[in-house]
Amino acid sequence: MSKRAYNFCAGPAALPEAVLKKAQAELLDWQGKGLSVMEMSHRSDEFVGIATKAEQDLRDLLSIPSDYKVLFLQGGASQQFAQIPLNLLPENGKADYIDTGIWSKKAIEEAGRYGRVNVAASAKAYDYFTIPGQNEWKLSADAAYVHYTPNETIGGLEFGWIPETGDVPLVADMSSTILSRPLDVSRFGLIYAGAQKNIGPSGLVVTIVREDLLGRARSICPTMLDYKVAADNGSMYNTPPTLAWYLAGLIFEWLKEQGGLEAMGAINQRKQQKLYDFIDASGLYTNPIAKNDRSWMNIPFRLADEKLDKPFLAGADARGLLNLKGHRSVGGMRASIYNAVDEAAVDALLAYMAEFEKEHG
Ligand code: PMP
Repeated sequence: MSKRAYNFCAGPAALPEAVLKKAQAELLDWQGKGLSVMEMSHRSDEFVGIATKAEQDLRDLLSIPSDYKVLFLQGGASQQFAQIPLNLLPENGKADYIDTGIWSKKAIEEAGRYGRVNVAASAKAYDYFTIPGQNEWKLSADAAYVHYTPNETIGGLEFGWIPETGDVPLVADMSSTILSRPLDVSRFGLIYAGAQKNIGPSGLVVTIVREDLLGRARSICPTMLDYKVAADNGSMYNTPPTLAWYLAGLIFEWLKEQGGLEAMGAINQRKQQKLYDFIDASGLYTNPIAKNDRSWMNIPFRLADEKLDKPFLAGADARGLLNLKGHRSVGGMRASIYNAVDEAAVDALLAYMAEFEKEHG
């Protein structure tokens, strides 16, 4: 038997062992059909059944209202950076964007290729350690939409609140926070999330879009990127990433078995609280983010002396605590503690951090 390590990767991230085992058991012969999911036609009754159930389970988990479409798309969250303006930003229109870090900046840059972008607020003035309150935002009355990044995966900065944008559709990159706790989907025009954190393996991006926002794509929008085409074709205008979709479905089932998002939210609340409390009380580790704006899923931290980074990571690896190195653009450490990273993993990390501090603090 192999022993699975504790994996703190930001993405592709840890998947629940129970899901991997189920996929393994079904790999050669899916439910007695004599073939694997990878080998099925996406138009077969079997796969359409898998796809439909996955969508329904996601709808149940997030209580998605019936006037929203759920799309299982490709190209990752990065492709959504282009797909959103191509669908929602009229030729001479303007979109408001909120800059809270590296991922929002990427979204802003890409949208700028398609139209006017107003950066209505930026966390830059706070060194990206604090989210500017909405009273500081300069939203445009005529914006086609407002885009923000509820959780900045690299910076570890997360909104604990949903912006108020009146009739202007709110668009959110939920890649690294979706399914971490309950969410009021009705507050949003469009939500998107790359799968490889809380949804499943990479190769899939889920977009949840209010129906009235479909059918607005620019004439230059590629057919493959038109949300309406995807919606009208059940996300099967072309061959979808069937294996990733199936695995996402297994994750949604698993989340329901855990008690849904209320239960996950309670666990995730405890996990992050433990980690931040420990960091704040320690003399060796620090996290710079304003307390109200700290991410639940991605927790960056630094050691007092950079020279300790290498031995810290080596010791972690030796104990089966993997992928704690921070993003190359910011350095330091980062513990990503998505749904599949359980409390035992966080406890093991804390025990190691305490031991390392005793030795080197
Ligand atoms: N947005 C956020 C918040 C992310 O964390 C990531 C990936 N880490 C992306 C966008 C880009 O996702 P993808 O690699 O699926 O394009």
